[in-house]
Amino acid sequence: MDDPSHPRNPSPGRVTEVSRPVFEVRAVDGAARSGVLRTAHGEVRTPVFMPVGTKATVKTLDPGEVRALGAQILLGNTYHLHFRPGDELVRELGGLHRFMAWDGPILTDSGGFQVFSLRDTIARVDDDGVTFRSVYDGAATRFTPDLAARIQKNLGSDIAMCLDQVPPAGVSRRTLEVAVRRTTLWAARQRDLPRAPGQLRFGIAQGGTDPELRRRSTEEIAELGFDGNAIGGLAIGEDRDTMFETTDAAAALLPADRPRYFMGIGDPEGILEVIEAGIDMFDCVLPTRTARTGSALTANGRLNLRNARFARDQRPLEEGCDCPACTRFSRAYIRHLVNQSEVLGLRLLSLHNLRFLVNLADGARDAIERGTFAGYKRDRLERLTWPDS
Ligand SMILES: [Zn+2]
Repeated sequence: MDDPSHPRNPSPGRVTEVSRPVFEVRAVDGAARSGVLRTAHGEVRTPVFMPVGTKATVKTLDPGEVRALGAQILLGNTYHLHFRPGDELVRELGGLHRFMAWDGPILTDSGGFQVFSLRDTIARVDDDGVTFRSVYDGAATRFTPDLAARIQKNLGSDIAMCLDQVPPAGVSRRTLEVAVRRTTLWAARQRDLPRAPGQLRFGIAQGGTDPELRRRSTEEIAELGFDGNAIGGLAIGEDRDTMFETTDAAAALLPADRPRYFMGIGDPEGILEVIEAGIDMFDCVLPTRTARTGSALTANGRLNLRNARFARDQRPLEEGCDCPACTRFSRAYIRHLVNQSEVLGLRLLSLHNLRFLVNLADGARDAIERGTFAGYKRDRLERLTWPDS
């Protein structure tokens, strides 16, 4: 931690920054908290929903539009950007922020989740790394903690994630245990490798829903002293209640003075549950993926715009929503666009869905600051009368 550009190690002359830690908890309500995370590209107020821009784009949206929806930080993906267009090329072009014209904070995933979710492409996993075939051209590739660090340094993200081994839900305890051991080994190796100027680094805990292994992994990762800690290997198909119980227990074991990131949750109920457990950051492709299925997220549940009942519906997707779709267009028009596979339909649904989740997290933050989070959560869940219609 002797990198002078690291936010926690400002140069001696910059006295004002000495008193500004990377993460500050501003209010606590039960286990839920609101805070501020400081990155090299600005502050993030938490709890925060992070839109996913896997291939350096939040699908169909201009970064200016994403910013206008209130998004504070975007995700990029190490696996995909390494192969296309290549992290060396992105570095040559001035880094990921300049490349995609987003000047706010960016978090890059390590590629661990992609490698291990494309199970059929894996040739070998050992203590040094994982060998697999690229999903783009089948070329044999090896990801190691060193490569994960180097790619993210080239991309110049504000938050880099550690390479982890993500076993699928329902594997044997023995398999889970090996993944936990390896994830710690890899995190310890990646922790002290060179980083981009000001780049923060987060560890990721595994352990599935096994209480003992989850505890072991969480404690081991926390002990390594990363700038923030992530809960990985959940929301991958296990039982929901077990997932929430595991999250409660894991979040409580993570240091309170560092940000906590739950990887891959984006449904309204899930977001509220993890915030209640003390999670500060979460991401999901749900808003844009839901848009691609022709559906809108609303306070009452999902609207499938393909449905004939919207043919003459002149109301907006959601009454009171201030997004560019709801302020100008009717359900009837968006239904027409969706049924004709018009790009504008996809864009309008993506804009609305993102705005919906940004609003949900903003509302949670306000409620935590007022000490009314329990009531906020209850009200939101009661309104979700048809969660999957
Ligand atoms: Zn809207």
